[in-house]
Parts: sequence; C-alpha cells; structure tokens
Amino acid sequence: MKTSRRLLALAASLALSLGVAQSFSQSASAQGGKSGVERLYVLNCGEGVAGDISRWSPGVNVGKSMDFVDNCYLIKHSQGWLLWDTGLADAIAAMPEGQRPADPRMTHWRRSKTLASQLDQLGVKPSDIKFVAVSHSHPDHIGNVTLFPQTMLLVQKAEYEWQSPVGPRFKPEQPVTKLEGDHDVFGDGSVMIIATPGHTPGHQCLLVKLPKTGAVLLSGDAVHFKDNWENRRVPQNNDNKDKTSASMQRMADVMAKEKAQLWINHDKAQRDGQKMSPQFYE
Ligand SMILES: [Zn+2]
Repeated sequence: MKTSRRLLALAASLALSLGVAQSFSQSASAQGGKSGVERLYVLNCGEGVAGDISRWSPGVNVGKSMDFVDNCYLIKHSQGWLLWDTGLADAIAAMPEGQRPADPRMTHWRRSKTLASQLDQLGVKPSDIKFVAVSHSHPDHIGNVTLFPQTMLLVQKAEYEWQSPVGPRFKPEQPVTKLEGDHDVFGDGSVMIIATPGHTPGHQCLLVKLPKTGAVLLSGDAVHFKDNWENRRVPQNNDNKDKTSASMQRMADVMAKEKAQLWINHDKAQRDGQKMSPQFYE
C-alpha cells in the first residue's frame, strides 16, 4: 500500500514537472527567445550574365540575357555555424575572364571574392563550421564543398545518389547525412531543411527563423528569379516538371504558414537590395 502511494506521488510530481517544462518551452518559443538562430550573413558566391533566360521559362523571354548572382548564406546558431550552399568554385576568382560557358545560352560566371576570403573576414575557419547543407549538387552550389573536408554535409539521399550527367560530385571521405525529406537541423525548429524535389531529384530549400527579421525561405534553385516565381514557370531542363510545380506550391504553403520572405539565390535585383557580409541579418 505504502509503495503504491509513493509511486502515485512520484508519478504526480513527474507529470507536474513535465507540464511545467512543456509550458516553459512553449512560452519561450512563442516569445522567440529560445530560437537558437542568432544571425545570417549573405555571402557573395558569384556574379555573371545568363545568356538566354528562357532556359528557365520555355517560350518566355527567348534570347533575353540577364545579370545573375550566386549567393551562399552563413548562419550562426547557438549550437554552431551552418553554411547553406558553397557557390561557384573559388578557383574562378583567379580567372581573368571568369568561366565562359561552352553554350552561350548558359551563364558566364565570375567571382569577385572567394568564399574563403569572406569567411576569413568574419574570423570563421572552415573547421569552425558544423554543417554544410547544399540546395542541390549543380556546380554553382557545390563548388567549394571540398573546403570543408571535416564538416558534416546535409544533402538529400536522392541527390547524393543521383547519377548526374556531371558524374561524381562528392568525395566518398566527406562526412555526410543523407536526408529523406524535411530535417530540423539543430532540433529546435529554428532552421529547417524543406525537401523540394524537381529541379534535381533531391533539391531542398532552407527555412531560417531569424529573431528580428522573421522567417526567411532560401530558395536554392527551386526558382531562379522573382518573375518566374510569380508565374510559377518550370525550367526546361529540370529533372521533373510535376515535382517542380508541387515543390513551388509547398514553398508557398510554408511561406504562408511561417509568414516567411522568399530569398531567391540567383536574383540580382533582390540581392542588390540586401545587406551583404560582413553586415548581417538578425
Ligand atoms: Zn544555380
């Protein structure tokens, strides 16, 4: 009798303390106080000219050229640094005329600054970075993955195992977590990988809940510039048209739910209005 009463009392106090802990975490996240994200830097990971932007909008804007940019994003979380995309290879910075494409309809890329120099300016060493996550495995997004040989790579399994025409894109010795869908990077809901297949088999976006700026959805190449987003245009060379459309709808749903802004990786007009590293967003 005595033992069971003691057990009951123990169970009651346990339930009470669990309840208190739960309500504390709810109120903390409601105030935004417990989100571990501290700041986000937009890094210059390339600039260029796209020869014919109808590649991303079949039948629309045919023959029209446009200035393009390529961004990387460095996120400071209380648990460590996350780099989102690694941009064009730093080696392009040493090419006087940049990287001229074989097909003039593609993008002629230049790099005015290396990724390494921008990290250095912030006092961040490659070995300080806890996670490198890539939106997908095209060369303008994984150009510097090898700068981070000890860092855990976060990539969709479908992307990692994709038999891309480009051939092997990741070194087998690179530590990797192969994701199958959405992923809560730091376990507190503040930085979420959102699976958005279509551009490539394992394309993904990143939702970052900044304490002052609010939620931001980083597009990867789910869309290349604002007009194509507003008109939901699907690029002709995408891996899967239906999945691309479904992913754009998914992004719109996430943005509505989280009241998130869309930051489009390659959109020069948008980047021209943004603070670039070493300035940052909180
Ligand atoms: Zn790209």
